[in-house]
Amino acid sequence: MAYFTRRDVLRTGIFVPATISMAFSESGATEPDSHPKRLEEVTGFELDAAVVAHRLAILPLGSLEFHGPHNPLGTDSIIISGIAERVAVRTNAFLLPTVTFTLCPSQTAHFRGTVSIRPEVMTMYLAEILRNTLRLGCGRIFVLNGHDGNIGPGRGAISEVAHEAPDSAILFASWWEFLPTELMKKLALFSQPNGGHGHGGPLETSAVAAFRPDLVRLSAAHDLPEPPDLSGGPPYFLQKSIAPEWPGYSGKVSEASSEKGRQLVRISEDGIVKLVENWLSNDDAPGSW
Ligand SMILES: [Zn+2]
Repeated sequence: MAYFTRRDVLRTGIFVPATISMAFSESGATEPDSHPKRLEEVTGFELDAAVVAHRLAILPLGSLEFHGPHNPLGTDSIIISGIAERVAVRTNAFLLPTVTFTLCPSQTAHFRGTVSIRPEVMTMYLAEILRNTLRLGCGRIFVLNGHDGNIGPGRGAISEVAHEAPDSAILFASWWEFLPTELMKKLALFSQPNGGHGHGGPLETSAVAAFRPDLVRLSAAHDLPEPPDLSGGPPYFLQKSIAPEWPGYSGKVSEASSEKGRQLVRISEDGIVKLVENWLSNDDAPGSW
């Protein structure tokens, strides 16, 4: 594991295995029922023990961004904080605070309530957070992303710090990528051709309702024309300039529900846990496979 971690173990002789209590749900799947260790809750001198006791650190990335009249501004932060909490329990990870002030694209940046940090500042800011996390002794960091605008700065920041600490590794993944359009079509939870994806659309609205149903007001929005299905080919990135007529969300939002959201969040969470387990069990493999 991390160089600081090993040294701390040798120096202090401490090893505090994390106790994770798991209850079994009716389906037989494990259901996390305890809270993760959070960085902001660690008391000063307990930090070394807390770092040593966890296999990795999770850094959730969210946003403050207009998501239509029916969703909270913190939609991305709420979803990713909720998923990160559960993933942290299931993977024995140390949970860092969610980064909420991030880069938002021009389409949403002009809506009141969106706070957008410019790309170069965001990249430097994330690099500083990662650098400090490595310095804490967390040699395995999982950047768990909840917002499209974080992909560019996130990868840029990782590239910047990756070489700075020996024997370290940083993984980046976005929660919605574990719900590809093909899978969404099979699940048939939403009727639109792209399976419910889209900013503030039925998939995302359901996901935030899974965690905070009290903050979602479906009656405040009406259904919009179905977004086109551009899936099935290679991954792409499309950025448009400001569209003054766009209402800041997309799709048939009336099909959203917290029940669907809980199902989707669980699928994503299971996929994320599998990715982390695969990553850590192949930790010795050379290169960036
Ligand atoms: Zn979002």
